[in-house]
Amino acid sequence: MNVFVTGGAGYIGSICAEALLEAGHRVTIYDNLSEGHRSALDARARFVLGRPEEDGDILGAVKEAKPDAIMHFAANALVGESMTNPGKYFRNNVANGLKLLDAAVACGVKKFVFSSTCATYGPPDRVPMAEDLPQRPINPYGESKLMFEKMLQWYQQIHGLEFIAFRYFNAAGASDRFGEHHRVETHLIPNVLQVALGQKTHCEIYGTDYPTPDGTCIRDYIHILDLAQAHILGLAPGRQGFYNLGNGDGYSVREVIRMCEQVTGKAIPTIEKPRRPGDPPRLVASAEKAIRELGWKPKFPRLEDIVVTAWAWHKLHPEGYPD
Ligand code: UDP
Repeated sequence: MNVFVTGGAGYIGSICAEALLEAGHRVTIYDNLSEGHRSALDARARFVLGRPEEDGDILGAVKEAKPDAIMHFAANALVGESMTNPGKYFRNNVANGLKLLDAAVACGVKKFVFSSTCATYGPPDRVPMAEDLPQRPINPYGESKLMFEKMLQWYQQIHGLEFIAFRYFNAAGASDRFGEHHRVETHLIPNVLQVALGQKTHCEIYGTDYPTPDGTCIRDYIHILDLAQAHILGLAPGRQGFYNLGNGDGYSVREVIRMCEQVTGKAIPTIEKPRRPGDPPRLVASAEKAIRELGWKPKFPRLEDIVVTAWAWHKLHPEGYPD
């Protein structure tokens, strides 16, 4: 298939583009490099430097690529930042996303694959979380992704645009070539590994008074290559709807730090801080639907394997990508 990948220079997009190319698909990457990196671009892909805020830029790029499918990863994705700068999230994730949806319809794209998030649920009434839980996001990031999900449903109903949306839990780990490098790192595992590399003196724990066994937040970590696999399965005709992607295992912040100590063999000093606004206490997936309906089978379900691959990448690229 010919696939148009937005955000293909970012963490999740670069690894999904790599997996698509390895599966024999043709790929055009559209990325404005605001968060992504030139050296995270797979050389086998065609690259378009995007200006999504300019009218007609996305449409022109989609017209030229003539894709069968679009995979949409380009988005701002930091819960904490969205609580201080919500406009950035609604402008990029919703307004720019809408231009992409219109371009998909105008160009007769057959399949739209959307990178959504468990942040659309907000704090759940029960875990593990299935797709039919009510969606009540508690931060603008989750709200912006939920708004896009709703636009997708209307575009499917009215324009016949077939879509599949994956609600990721916490993506982590690396492929052999590509890994996680944010210019300002806020994510737990890379932050802890920076301490193991000696680049930071300590890791901060945001909140130790949550209603969880050790008082810290619980998340479900999923290997980036398993995420990529689900996206490829989702390209098949007829596969549509919403799917959670996670391993069904919750790990607290302290447990993740302990696992990083074990994998790296380094002590990780920590400092306890107040809660980070917008963080739900516990998010754990039920991915039964993806397993049952898509035949998805995670290859790296264990936190240890996830951290091992992340550590291998960070040791090889201690400063991340060069640009
Ligand atoms: N967290 C932390 N210290 C850090 C980074 C994150 O305690 O340096 C916590 C954060 O508050 C959340 C969990 O770790 O409870 C996972 O955060 P991350 O930013 O990795 O992903 P999110 O769940 O926000 O998508």
